Amino acid sequence: MTDNQPRLTFNDHAKAPQLGFGVFQIDNDIVSDAVATALDVGYRSIDTAAFYKNEKGVGEGMRRSGVPRSEVFLTTKLWNEDHGFDAALKAFEASLKKLGTDYLDLYLIHWPLPRRDRYVETWNALIQLQSDGRVKSIGVSNFQPDHLQRLLKETGVAPVVNQIELHPDFTQREVVAFNTRHNIVTEAWSPLGQGGDLLTQEKLVDLGARYDKSAAQVILRWHIQRGHMVIPKSEHAERIRENFAIFDFNLSDDELQAIDALDAGNRLGPHPDELN
Ligand code: NAD
Repeated sequence: MTDNQPRLTFNDHAKAPQLGFGVFQIDNDIVSDAVATALDVGYRSIDTAAFYKNEKGVGEGMRRSGVPRSEVFLTTKLWNEDHGFDAALKAFEASLKKLGTDYLDLYLIHWPLPRRDRYVETWNALIQLQSDGRVKSIGVSNFQPDHLQRLLKETGVAPVVNQIELHPDFTQREVVAFNTRHNIVTEAWSPLGQGGDLLTQEKLVDLGARYDKSAAQVILRWHIQRGHMVIPKSEHAERIRENFAIFDFNLSDDELQAIDALDAGNRLGPHPDELN
């Protein structure tokens, strides 16, 4: 690892690039181009999921890029239909096969599905995969504090990451505070608010103008300075490049707080307690 991008250290001592490339809704036939472009630009972390149905193309893009497997931090996620101990082990093998790799850097439970109540059993399968050396780190996504509390109480093993919806107008303070207290890294999904109104908000555009940066770059810089892992998505080479060009400026404390204050409670995805 010779580049200068920031890396975070997990509670299991593994390290991960703070900025990664997300590939939700990028079709399997075009995702390999996007992944190869991202790796060429300098990203060293890719976030996919079984649910995105593009793991095969992600693996192809990684191989095509010529960047060694050992230099890429690869995340995928276990989908909802695969909760349960045996089902989780099987889903893991299926993802590895599609990706064309023999290990993962990070495996996440995509949603807790509390009414089905199998996430502790599923978590035990991930613990097993990690102790077998098949995956370096294990984590969760969309877990609320009470779900995390149960994992801690019933297995004693804390996730390294909780990947949650997080953007300036939905900052999830309580979940982030719980993560921080338990040394769980907060990873922001839809970090740009899915490219909606946030990117034209006057405050963010004006702030960007001070640094010759776009609103998207200001938002991503805010995530980095707030300590989140962050995984913006784009299919377009110029935006993939733009979203990586965030390591040559610093927002002041006042500017960070002004962005914190944009929180309007705008959740875009489902509430984790309600998705079952
Ligand atoms: P995002 O916030 O990254 O927004 C992506 C959209 O923003 C793009 O489609 C494009 O329209 C726009 N955009 C990107 N860069 C831009 C730029 N520089 N200028 C202008 N517009 C730009 O939204 P996302 O894709 O939903 O989230 C990112 C990643 O998070 C996903 O790809 C996926 O990997 C992950 N994710 C995880 C979950 C989960 O449940 N764990 C859910 C959703 C997304």
